[in-house]
Amino acid sequence: DPVPTNPALTATVDLDAIAHNVSVVRAASGADVIAVVKADGYGHGAVPVARAALEAGATELGVAVIGEALALRAAGLDAPITAWLHTNDDDFGGAIAAGVDLAVSSRRQLGRVLDAARALGTTATISVKVDTGLNRSGVAADEWSDFAADLAAAVAEEAVTVRAMMCHLARGDEPEHPLNSEQARRLDTARADLVRRGAGPEVMHLANSPAALTRPDLARDLVRPGIAIYGGVPIPGRDFGLIPAMTLSGEVALVKRLPAGQGVSYSHTWVSERDTMIAVVPAGYADGVPRTASGRLRVRIGDRDFPQIGRICMDQIVIDLGADGGGVREGDRAELFGTGLTGGPTAQEWAETVGTIDYEILSRIGGRTARTYV
Ligand code: PLP
Repeated sequence: DPVPTNPALTATVDLDAIAHNVSVVRAASGADVIAVVKADGYGHGAVPVARAALEAGATELGVAVIGEALALRAAGLDAPITAWLHTNDDDFGGAIAAGVDLAVSSRRQLGRVLDAARALGTTATISVKVDTGLNRSGVAADEWSDFAADLAAAVAEEAVTVRAMMCHLARGDEPEHPLNSEQARRLDTARADLVRRGAGPEVMHLANSPAALTRPDLARDLVRPGIAIYGGVPIPGRDFGLIPAMTLSGEVALVKRLPAGQGVSYSHTWVSERDTMIAVVPAGYADGVPRTASGRLRVRIGDRDFPQIGRICMDQIVIDLGADGGGVREGDRAELFGTGLTGGPTAQEWAETVGTIDYEILSRIGGRTARTYV
């Protein structure tokens, strides 16, 4: 069942910003784009983002798990989709039948793909995910030659077609780090081995957002950006002309007077020094506002910033409007984060406040937050 949404809290997603960001990545990398829309499009809504990215020139979609790929297919998206994270119970047959390109990371996974393809009497299209140094998913170096032999046999019997080879960078956000070129070199070497065995791929891809924007020499045929598509921050401190697509805003639910000397929210970590006006905005840690940011966020209403005060609760935050109430009225829109183009808070500012990355802030916006697309 869908989670009931809270209409007072809205994530507004600017699909023109998504389109703009796709163009920025294409221009910088000179390669075709696989738009990464896992984790419900980093919290933006996978289906609308996928549509917008494809319309803007992305040619493929990338997700982590098969269920995410099947949801895109169910929504009518027929572009190539690669899913790269699998568990033992995953429905490989369902994925193959839906035309989802499975990225395989081990001999065992390849064996399961073959079983599923044979059971369906079809040829599975796969990507080979090589572990070139992230030491996460991907075929491990010590399994490579056995894997490659299995794969060559499977290609010879037409049980699989190798569409792509891919790997994921460990230090893409440090563009000049030698490991980036080294990972590309290892992928190229693995490719040469598969070509020699008659199982070469049609295309290759390894660049995530930071690499796509800074290392066109690593781009190969396609790049695989996620955060850049959403206008996030691939490399802190670097401006690539991306536009943040999501604005998170809540309705001011309540405005009231608070006398001096009163504590606000749980544990009264903030106490009023003077008579003031406070406002309640219905957004809390259940909606992705990090509780560890308590007392350290700012909220923009109109063209003014107001401090968030006291503990962030599950469903609400309180802001200090000051003695004159700042002209804020119940029903006004309070911007929690947005593009930052007019000086308001951004997801990156939240991330810096709590010591994380905007990927985490954005991908946690979902659940009961209503989404609108403009
Ligand atoms: N490719 C893979 C395999 C990933 O796991 C991810 C996300 O972590 C991406 C591409 C996109 O990365 P980014 O959001 O840094 O562009």
